[in-house]
Amino acid sequence: MPRRFKSFPPLGRRIGIALVAVVLCALVLTGLWASGRVGQRVPDATASTATAAAGKGPGTGSSPFPSGAAASNLAVVTPSAVPFPADPPLVPDHALPPVTDGMVPVLTKVPTEQKVVFLTIDDGATKLPQDLKILQDNGIKATLFLAQTFVSGNPAFFTDFVAAGSVVEDHSVSHSLNMIQLPYAAQKAEICQMADYVQQHYGRRPVFFRPPGGPYTNATRKAAADCGMKAIIDWEAKANAGKMDYQYGASLRAGDIVLMHFRPEFAADMQAFLSAQKAAGLKVVLLEDYLKTD
Ligand SMILES: [Zn+2]
Repeated sequence: MPRRFKSFPPLGRRIGIALVAVVLCALVLTGLWASGRVGQRVPDATASTATAAAGKGPGTGSSPFPSGAAASNLAVVTPSAVPFPADPPLVPDHALPPVTDGMVPVLTKVPTEQKVVFLTIDDGATKLPQDLKILQDNGIKATLFLAQTFVSGNPAFFTDFVAAGSVVEDHSVSHSLNMIQLPYAAQKAEICQMADYVQQHYGRRPVFFRPPGGPYTNATRKAAADCGMKAIIDWEAKANAGKMDYQYGASLRAGDIVLMHFRPEFAADMQAFLSAQKAAGLKVVLLEDYLKTD
Protein backbone atom coordinates (compact mmCIF):
# COMPACT_ATOMS: atom_id res chain seq x y z
CA MET A 1 0.00 0.00 0.00
CA PRO A 2 2.67 2.58 0.83
CA ARG A 3 4.11 1.99 -2.58
CA ARG A 4 0.73 2.94 -4.08
CA PHE A 5 0.70 6.22 -2.17
CA LYS A 6 4.21 6.84 -3.36
CA SER A 7 3.05 6.40 -6.94
CA PHE A 8 0.66 9.39 -6.88
CA PRO A 9 3.12 12.11 -7.93
CA PRO A 10 4.34 10.19 -11.02
CA LEU A 11 0.71 9.45 -11.94
CA GLY A 12 -0.06 13.16 -11.73
CA ARG A 13 2.78 13.86 -14.08
CA ARG A 14 1.45 11.23 -16.43
CA ILE A 15 -1.95 12.90 -16.40
CA GLY A 16 -0.24 16.18 -17.20
CA ILE A 17 1.59 14.59 -20.11
CA ALA A 18 -1.68 13.11 -21.34
CA LEU A 19 -3.34 16.54 -21.22
CA VAL A 20 -0.46 18.01 -23.23
CA ALA A 21 -0.88 15.19 -25.77
CA VAL A 22 -4.60 15.90 -26.06
CA VAL A 23 -3.89 19.58 -26.65
CA LEU A 24 -1.29 18.71 -29.28
CA CYS A 25 -3.73 16.38 -31.05
CA ALA A 26 -6.34 19.11 -31.07
CA LEU A 27 -3.83 21.52 -32.58
CA VAL A 28 -2.87 19.02 -35.30
CA LEU A 29 -6.52 18.33 -36.17
CA THR A 30 -7.25 22.06 -36.24
CA GLY A 31 -4.31 22.51 -38.58
CA LEU A 32 -5.62 19.78 -40.88
CA TRP A 33 -9.04 21.36 -40.91
CA ALA A 34 -7.58 24.76 -41.69
CA SER A 35 -5.38 23.44 -44.50
CA GLY A 36 -8.42 21.63 -45.88
CA ARG A 37 -10.15 24.96 -46.22
CA VAL A 38 -7.10 26.56 -47.81
CA GLY A 39 -6.63 23.65 -50.24
CA GLN A 40 -10.22 23.96 -51.52
CA ARG A 41 -9.76 20.77 -53.53
CA VAL A 42 -13.44 19.96 -53.08
CA PRO A 43 -14.84 23.46 -52.77
CA ASP A 44 -18.50 22.42 -52.71
CA ALA A 45 -17.94 19.90 -49.93
CA THR A 46 -15.80 22.29 -47.93
CA ALA A 47 -18.27 25.13 -48.29
CA SER A 48 -21.25 23.02 -47.33
CA THR A 49 -19.33 21.60 -44.36
CA ALA A 50 -18.51 25.06 -43.08
CA THR A 51 -22.08 26.23 -43.58
CA ALA A 52 -23.62 23.22 -41.92
CA ALA A 53 -21.18 23.36 -39.00
CA ALA A 54 -22.08 26.98 -38.43
CA GLY A 55 -25.77 26.11 -38.41
CA LYS A 56 -26.50 28.65 -41.12
CA GLY A 57 -27.80 26.38 -43.86
CA PRO A 58 -28.85 22.91 -44.80
CA GLY A 59 -25.38 22.03 -46.02
CA THR A 60 -26.67 20.29 -49.09
CA GLY A 61 -26.36 22.20 -52.36
CA SER A 62 -24.08 20.40 -54.78
CA SER A 63 -22.05 18.64 -52.12
CA PRO A 64 -21.54 14.96 -52.92
CA PHE A 65 -21.65 14.22 -49.18
CA PRO A 66 -24.74 13.92 -46.95
CA SER A 67 -25.02 17.08 -44.89
CA GLY A 68 -24.96 15.22 -41.59
CA ALA A 69 -21.75 13.42 -42.45
CA ALA A 70 -20.22 16.60 -43.80
CA ALA A 71 -21.01 18.47 -40.60
CA SER A 72 -19.90 15.86 -38.12
CA ASN A 73 -17.32 13.63 -39.75
CA LEU A 74 -13.88 15.15 -39.85
CA ALA A 75 -12.77 12.43 -42.28
CA VAL A 76 -14.92 14.07 -44.96
CA VAL A 77 -12.84 17.21 -44.76
CA THR A 78 -9.42 15.78 -44.00
CA PRO A 79 -8.82 14.08 -47.40
CA SER A 80 -9.09 17.43 -49.13
CA ALA A 81 -5.98 18.51 -47.23
CA VAL A 82 -3.98 15.79 -49.00
CA PRO A 83 -3.86 16.62 -52.70
CA PHE A 84 -4.07 13.66 -55.07
CA PRO A 85 -0.87 13.29 -57.06
CA ALA A 86 -1.34 14.56 -60.59
CA ASP A 87 -1.06 12.06 -63.42
CA PRO A 88 2.49 12.15 -64.73
CA PRO A 89 2.57 13.68 -68.20
CA LEU A 90 2.56 11.11 -70.97
CA VAL A 91 5.66 11.23 -73.10
CA PRO A 92 5.10 9.95 -76.63
CA ASP A 93 7.59 7.18 -77.22
CA HIS A 94 6.68 6.49 -80.81
CA ALA A 95 7.56 8.74 -83.72
CA LEU A 96 5.23 8.35 -86.69
CA PRO A 97 7.21 6.85 -89.58
CA PRO A 98 7.68 9.33 -92.42
CA VAL A 99 6.11 9.14 -95.85
CA THR A 100 8.39 6.75 -97.74
CA ASP A 101 8.48 6.22 -101.52
CA GLY A 102 5.54 8.60 -101.71
CA MET A 103 3.37 6.41 -99.46
CA VAL A 104 2.02 7.05 -95.99
CA PRO A 105 2.76 4.53 -93.21
CA VAL A 106 -0.05 2.30 -91.98
CA LEU A 107 -0.75 1.90 -88.26
CA THR A 108 -3.07 -0.75 -86.86
CA LYS A 109 -1.64 -0.30 -83.36
CA VAL A 110 0.77 2.16 -81.79
CA PRO A 111 3.92 0.27 -80.76
CA THR A 112 4.20 1.65 -77.25
CA GLU A 113 4.72 0.14 -73.82
CA GLN A 114 2.89 3.03 -72.18
CA LYS A 115 -0.50 2.20 -70.72
CA VAL A 116 -2.56 4.03 -73.33
CA VAL A 117 -5.38 3.13 -75.70
CA PHE A 118 -6.88 5.10 -78.56
CA LEU A 119 -10.58 5.28 -79.44
CA THR A 120 -11.69 5.94 -83.02
CA ILE A 121 -15.36 6.33 -83.96
CA ASP A 122 -16.37 6.02 -87.58
CA ASP A 123 -18.83 6.99 -90.28
CA GLY A 124 -21.33 9.36 -88.63
CA ALA A 125 -24.46 7.77 -90.03
CA THR A 126 -26.38 7.60 -86.74
CA LYS A 127 -26.49 10.86 -84.81
CA LEU A 128 -27.85 10.34 -81.30
CA PRO A 129 -27.98 13.41 -79.05
CA GLN A 130 -26.71 11.45 -76.04
CA ASP A 131 -23.52 10.24 -77.74
CA LEU A 132 -21.53 13.37 -76.97
CA LYS A 133 -22.66 13.32 -73.35
CA ILE A 134 -21.52 9.71 -73.02
CA LEU A 135 -18.06 10.72 -74.21
CA GLN A 136 -17.95 13.73 -71.92
CA ASP A 137 -19.25 11.88 -68.86
CA ASN A 138 -16.36 9.46 -69.26
CA GLY A 139 -13.78 12.12 -70.04
CA ILE A 140 -13.04 10.67 -73.45
CA LYS A 141 -11.79 12.45 -76.54
CA ALA A 142 -11.93 10.35 -79.68
CA THR A 143 -10.71 10.44 -83.25
CA LEU A 144 -13.75 10.64 -85.53
CA PHE A 145 -13.29 9.17 -89.01
CA LEU A 146 -16.26 10.70 -90.81
CA ALA A 147 -17.40 10.17 -94.39
CA GLN A 148 -19.09 13.00 -96.24
CA THR A 149 -21.93 10.83 -97.46
CA PHE A 150 -22.96 10.15 -93.85
CA VAL A 151 -22.55 13.61 -92.35
CA SER A 152 -23.39 16.03 -95.17
CA GLY A 153 -27.04 16.17 -94.12
CA ASN A 154 -26.09 17.51 -90.70
CA PRO A 155 -22.37 18.28 -90.40
CA ALA A 156 -23.07 20.63 -87.48
CA PHE A 157 -23.94 17.63 -85.31
CA PHE A 158 -20.20 16.93 -84.94
CA THR A 159 -19.18 20.52 -84.26
CA ASP A 160 -19.92 20.05 -80.56
CA PHE A 161 -17.71 16.95 -80.51
CA VAL A 162 -14.85 19.06 -81.86
CA ALA A 163 -15.56 21.77 -79.30
CA ALA A 164 -15.31 19.09 -76.60
CA GLY A 165 -11.87 17.99 -77.80
CA SER A 166 -12.50 15.18 -80.27
CA VAL A 167 -10.86 15.46 -83.69
CA VAL A 168 -12.37 14.81 -87.13
CA GLU A 169 -10.26 12.86 -89.61
CA ASP A 170 -10.77 11.61 -93.18
CA HIS A 171 -12.87 8.54 -94.01
CA SER A 172 -13.48 9.38 -97.70
CA VAL A 173 -16.36 11.09 -99.50
CA SER A 174 -18.56 8.18 -100.58
CA HIS A 175 -17.45 5.41 -98.19
CA SER A 176 -17.13 2.97 -101.08
CA LEU A 177 -16.21 -0.47 -99.75
CA ASN A 178 -14.66 -1.11 -103.17
CA MET A 179 -12.33 1.84 -102.93
CA ILE A 180 -9.16 -0.18 -103.44
CA GLN A 181 -10.48 -1.26 -106.85
CA LEU A 182 -10.69 2.34 -107.97
CA PRO A 183 -7.80 3.83 -109.95
CA TYR A 184 -5.33 6.05 -108.13
CA ALA A 185 -6.93 9.29 -109.33
CA ALA A 186 -10.37 8.29 -108.07
CA GLN A 187 -8.96 7.23 -104.70
CA LYS A 188 -7.12 10.53 -104.45
CA ALA A 189 -10.35 12.42 -105.19
CA GLU A 190 -12.14 10.50 -102.41
CA ILE A 191 -9.46 11.43 -99.88
CA CYS A 192 -8.61 14.97 -100.96
CA GLN A 193 -12.21 16.12 -101.32
CA MET A 194 -13.07 14.80 -97.86
CA ALA A 195 -10.02 16.56 -96.45
CA ASP A 196 -11.34 19.79 -97.97
CA TYR A 197 -14.79 19.13 -96.51
CA VAL A 198 -13.42 18.47 -93.01
CA GLN A 199 -11.30 21.60 -93.13
CA GLN A 200 -14.26 23.66 -94.31
CA HIS A 201 -16.69 22.42 -91.67
CA TYR A 202 -14.49 21.67 -88.68
CA GLY A 203 -11.65 24.17 -89.11
CA ARG A 204 -8.73 21.75 -89.26
CA ARG A 205 -7.26 19.81 -92.16
CA PRO A 206 -7.15 16.10 -91.33
CA VAL A 207 -3.83 14.26 -91.12
CA PHE A 208 -5.09 10.67 -90.85
CA PHE A 209 -7.07 8.60 -93.36
CA ARG A 210 -9.03 5.47 -92.67
CA PRO A 211 -10.08 3.51 -95.76
CA PRO A 212 -13.76 2.43 -95.78
CA GLY A 213 -13.82 -1.10 -94.38
CA GLY A 214 -10.08 -0.95 -93.68
CA PRO A 215 -8.37 -2.41 -96.78
CA TYR A 216 -5.81 -0.38 -98.72
CA THR A 217 -3.28 -0.75 -101.51
CA ASN A 218 -0.09 1.09 -102.38
CA ALA A 219 -2.25 3.33 -104.58
CA THR A 220 -4.33 4.19 -101.48
CA ARG A 221 -1.20 4.95 -99.48
CA LYS A 222 0.15 7.17 -102.28
CA ALA A 223 -3.18 8.96 -102.73
CA ALA A 224 -3.32 9.60 -98.99
CA ALA A 225 0.20 11.05 -99.04
CA ASP A 226 -0.64 13.24 -102.01
CA CYS A 227 -3.65 14.62 -100.10
CA GLY A 228 -1.39 15.62 -97.21
CA MET A 229 -2.21 12.70 -94.91
CA LYS A 230 0.49 11.53 -92.50
CA ALA A 231 -0.76 7.95 -92.00
CA ILE A 232 -3.47 5.42 -92.67
CA ILE A 233 -4.98 4.38 -89.35
CA ASP A 234 -6.58 0.93 -89.08
CA TRP A 235 -7.22 -1.14 -85.96
CA GLU A 236 -6.73 -4.47 -84.21
CA ALA A 237 -9.63 -4.23 -81.75
CA LYS A 238 -13.19 -3.04 -82.02
CA ALA A 239 -16.27 -2.38 -79.92
CA ASN A 240 -19.13 -3.85 -81.89
CA ALA A 241 -22.68 -5.02 -81.09
CA GLY A 242 -22.11 -4.31 -77.40
CA LYS A 243 -18.94 -6.38 -77.03
CA MET A 244 -15.24 -6.28 -77.79
CA ASP A 245 -13.67 -8.10 -80.73
CA TYR A 246 -9.92 -8.65 -80.79
CA GLN A 247 -7.76 -9.62 -83.74
CA TYR A 248 -5.07 -10.72 -81.27
CA GLY A 249 -5.56 -12.07 -77.77
CA ALA A 250 -8.57 -11.58 -75.55
CA SER A 251 -8.03 -8.16 -74.02
CA LEU A 252 -6.89 -4.66 -74.84
CA ARG A 253 -3.13 -4.09 -75.02
CA ALA A 254 -1.04 -0.97 -74.55
CA GLY A 255 -1.20 1.08 -77.74
CA ASP A 256 -4.32 -0.53 -79.17
CA ILE A 257 -6.36 1.47 -81.65
CA VAL A 258 -10.04 0.63 -81.10
CA LEU A 259 -12.69 0.93 -83.81
CA MET A 260 -16.22 1.95 -82.92
CA HIS A 261 -19.07 3.43 -84.96
CA PHE A 262 -21.81 6.00 -84.60
CA ARG A 263 -24.57 3.43 -84.52
CA PRO A 264 -27.81 2.92 -82.57
CA GLU A 265 -25.88 0.69 -80.12
CA PHE A 266 -23.35 3.45 -79.35
CA ALA A 267 -24.01 3.33 -75.59
CA ALA A 268 -23.59 -0.45 -75.38
CA ASP A 269 -20.43 -0.35 -77.50
CA MET A 270 -19.01 2.39 -75.32
CA GLN A 271 -19.78 0.37 -72.21
CA ALA A 272 -17.95 -2.62 -73.68
CA PHE A 273 -14.97 -0.43 -74.52
CA LEU A 274 -14.89 1.22 -71.08
CA SER A 275 -15.04 -2.14 -69.31
CA ALA A 276 -12.17 -3.47 -71.41
CA GLN A 277 -10.15 -0.28 -71.01
CA LYS A 278 -10.51 -0.26 -67.24
CA ALA A 279 -9.80 -3.99 -66.94
CA ALA A 280 -6.58 -3.48 -68.90
CA GLY A 281 -5.60 -0.44 -66.81
CA LEU A 282 -5.18 1.75 -69.88
CA LYS A 283 -5.66 5.49 -70.19
CA VAL A 284 -7.71 6.73 -73.16
CA VAL A 285 -5.54 9.14 -75.09
CA LEU A 286 -6.28 11.11 -78.24
CA LEU A 287 -4.26 9.76 -81.15
CA GLU A 288 -3.54 13.27 -82.40
CA ASP A 289 -2.12 14.22 -78.98
CA TYR A 290 0.08 11.16 -78.83
CA LEU A 291 1.64 10.95 -82.29
CA LYS A 292 3.78 13.72 -83.59
CA THR A 293 2.53 14.53 -87.09
CA ASP A 294 4.51 17.65 -87.95
ZN1 LIG B 1 -16.60 3.29 -92.19
